[in-house]
Amino acid sequence: MLTSWQQEAQTKGLSYAIPSRFQGAIVKAAKLTKEEKVIALTFDDGPWPQTTGQVLDILKSNNIKGTFFVVGQNLKNYPELGKQIVFQGHVIANHTWHHWYHSFNPQAAAFEIERTTDLIYQITGAKTTLFRPPGGILHNGLAAYAKGQKYTVVMWSADSTDYKLPTVPKLINNVIRDSKPGGIVLMHDGGGNRSRTVQALPEIISNFRKQGYRFVTIPELLEMEDADQKLLANKK
Ligand SMILES: [Zn+2]
Repeated sequence: MLTSWQQEAQTKGLSYAIPSRFQGAIVKAAKLTKEEKVIALTFDDGPWPQTTGQVLDILKSNNIKGTFFVVGQNLKNYPELGKQIVFQGHVIANHTWHHWYHSFNPQAAAFEIERTTDLIYQITGAKTTLFRPPGGILHNGLAAYAKGQKYTVVMWSADSTDYKLPTVPKLINNVIRDSKPGGIVLMHDGGGNRSRTVQALPEIISNFRKQGYRFVTIPELLEMEDADQKLLANKK
């Protein structure tokens, strides 16, 4: 049985508005003309037992919305966590079905991406056109397929390197050092032991806040750049 919010999502056809200039494009960060202090936190490779829930709790207690690039087979295994991501107001996005790094022909790429998009919709009611290639690999057929289907290929501008299991202070420093207004931060809530990411996240958040940053989702970030670009175009 569908819960009421799920029915609402499906009735409304919850879908993320992505400005046309970013459809079929690769994005590493937003180019904002006014240097507005916004940053987008992104979490990959979930849903994952324990750590996805812990990340959600931290974001909730800080009143922050993030963007979660989920792996299809993990979403299949942990659908309730996927529902929580969307129910709590975060953006859910596509990170392929298997998280494989090898080369894909168009049929195999379509399977990896569309099967995941379909499952996200079935489970959460959300239609996503945001895609992040596993490992950030742009030349193995996945990104090409995604661009051809008008997905926005979302990369990052600050890498926590949490997948290399750095110490918590190093992890925090990686994020803060490489962040700038309009940036996209790469972290992981799944795919391995992410306890260090969970430990680092509250301090990452408070550090950004002390610098005057506020947190946005990827669709919000893209909307901001789109608005800036339109203003610029009008001035010319
Ligand atoms: Zn990944």
